[in-house]
Amino acid sequence: NRRWVLASRPQGAPVESNFRFEEDEVATPGEGQVLLRSIYLSLDPYMRGRMSDEPSYSPPVRIGEVMVGGTVSRVVASNHPDYSPGEWVLGYSGWQDYDISDGTGLVKLGENPQHPSWSLGILGMPGFTAWMGLLDIGQPKEGETLVVAAATGPVGATVGQIGKLKGCRVVGIAGGEEKCRHATETLGFDVCLDRHADDFARRLAEACPQGIDIYYENVGGKVFDAVLPLLNTSARIPLCGLVSGYNATDLPPGPDRLPLLMATLLKKRIRLQGFIINQDYGHRIHEFHQEMGRWVEEGKIHYREQITDGLENAPQAFIGLLTGKNFGKVVIRVADD
Ligand code: NDP
Repeated sequence: NRRWVLASRPQGAPVESNFRFEEDEVATPGEGQVLLRSIYLSLDPYMRGRMSDEPSYSPPVRIGEVMVGGTVSRVVASNHPDYSPGEWVLGYSGWQDYDISDGTGLVKLGENPQHPSWSLGILGMPGFTAWMGLLDIGQPKEGETLVVAAATGPVGATVGQIGKLKGCRVVGIAGGEEKCRHATETLGFDVCLDRHADDFARRLAEACPQGIDIYYENVGGKVFDAVLPLLNTSARIPLCGLVSGYNATDLPPGPDRLPLLMATLLKKRIRLQGFIINQDYGHRIHEFHQEMGRWVEEGKIHYREQITDGLENAPQAFIGLLTGKNFGKVVIRVADD
């Protein structure tokens, strides 16, 4: 069993030496247990938080412990009455080849799922995050302007496409021209702006002549600074993530913008609400599966993955995800099915 454990806590951006590759015997399942073989491992921005030991909504990974992560696996051996060898399951085995489970938290995906890895993306946690945050907190209405960054990632791409289904004008923000072209040509966004452009803030203002009604917050930082003056009265901000700051060690330079933020929220009666998908909305997963399953089947939602072969490449793929080297949902193919 090969696995990546947390070797040390990163200072700023994670580096390869924060992880250690280990190998040991594959365990044998006991009574009431199954042995799972990971086929796909999901890499997600929240894992950066688990590498730190600051207080958060979930406990950190301990030093020497296997890195956490969502997985799609096959049952290899079973001493559990509900599971048979060959079956596919969604679980939380982390960055390793094999795992022993008593079934807690496993979701059955059947004998022959059409796109098993999609349960880690559009039909799983990131898709659910996009759907719930936009619909419940964002409350999109026809004709409104919706802005979302990390626009080609699994959350942002889904937010923008749902926004279009709800009749919004959708302005995406992404890193680089190729991603922006994908957002407009394939995902159907009205506009997509490169966040690296020198005159990004001016372009955003031009792209939002009616102001911004919903800003789905994935990134924070400079993007948020450009968004803030454009927010309309009664705008909504689902606060989903702040990836630009996950590797930060210091406060950003320049004047303290907190008073400006607070005054804007007050004067414009803006609703800004943070949420942690499974903790706040876990009870609504079935509704999500029904609606998103239908949209995907009908071809209304497009989904892009970036699959990297080999568990050994997980640290590099993860480090790249935090700076935008990924183009689509980051998945590691741990083994052939
Ligand atoms: P993505 O695949 O979109 O990856 C993150 C993206 O963020 C990068 O590809 C990059 O896109 C962008 N980015 C990186 N650095 C910066 C920066 N300095 N400024 C602006 N953008 C940057 O990830 P996900 O779709 O999985 O996640 C999106 C967000 O949603 C994250 O913040 C994540 O933490 C959050 N999230 C929150 C959940 C919750 O329950 N609250 C659940 C799941 C996700 P580009 O280069 O194209 O700009």
